[in-house]
Amino acid sequence: MTGKVYLIGAGPGDPELLTLKAVRALGAADVALVDDLVNRDVLKFLRAGARVIEVGKRGGCRSTPQAFIERQMIRLVRHGLVVARVKGGDPYVFGRGGEEAGALRNAGIEFEVVNGITAGIGAPAALGIPLTHRDIAHGVTFVTGHARGNDAPDWQALARAGTTLVIYMGIARLAEIVGELRAAGVPDGMPVAVVQNGTLPDQRSLVTCLGAVVEEVVRTGIGSPAVVVMGEVVRLANAREINDLTRRAA
Ligand code: SAH
Repeated sequence: MTGKVYLIGAGPGDPELLTLKAVRALGAADVALVDDLVNRDVLKFLRAGARVIEVGKRGGCRSTPQAFIERQMIRLVRHGLVVARVKGGDPYVFGRGGEEAGALRNAGIEFEVVNGITAGIGAPAALGIPLTHRDIAHGVTFVTGHARGNDAPDWQALARAGTTLVIYMGIARLAEIVGELRAAGVPDGMPVAVVQNGTLPDQRSLVTCLGAVVEEVVRTGIGSPAVVVMGEVVRLANAREINDLTRRAA
């Protein structure tokens, strides 16, 4: 019985952004447990005959409960199988990789984490945004827009820090987040980009400013999965599709 789990980051979408290690781990797996946001093209690196188990909510079904995924992984490894747990982006960035690693550790199961390019790195680069251009930004902060109430990020502190901000899962509550950032003193003219399906053939993007982003998202219909990037570095974006920043600023 020599089963183990590879917690694999599949990157933001483009299969060419997989690491060599991810490709090797996929090739070694007997079974793959695959999340929603993973581009199915990466599964071509599985060996012939490897089983694929979808654990996302594609097709309108409810997503597989986290505890069930963890139990299933453990069960498969205990049958001696090599399991590829394939996640979008990086497994340890908003991917519940930490929870799954904890469950495996508690069960005494061998596992290895294989990094992926997180969407917050891949999607801005696909738009030509250098997140930490040294003349412009002292750093970058990755934050979730999903949490609410007491659990929500401290938008005041984030605004004060003045680093480039990359917001994951931020579309559903965008109006609220923008309201918080404006209340914290971020000017309406602050450049903002929204990138949906970054690095994929159907990538869509929008470059605008804080005061207009909510309206522009509604107008263009850009939706999840998307990252929102806020900061002066966004001025360096080479948005091909829609570029409203200059028009708005005029
Ligand atoms: N572990 C993943 C993040 C999972 S959370 C990672 O490291 O990238 C899911 C969120 O990631 C989405 O709501 C969206 O904000 C972002 N995301 C994932 N893939 C994306 C893509 N191709 N383009 C833009 N945003 C993406």
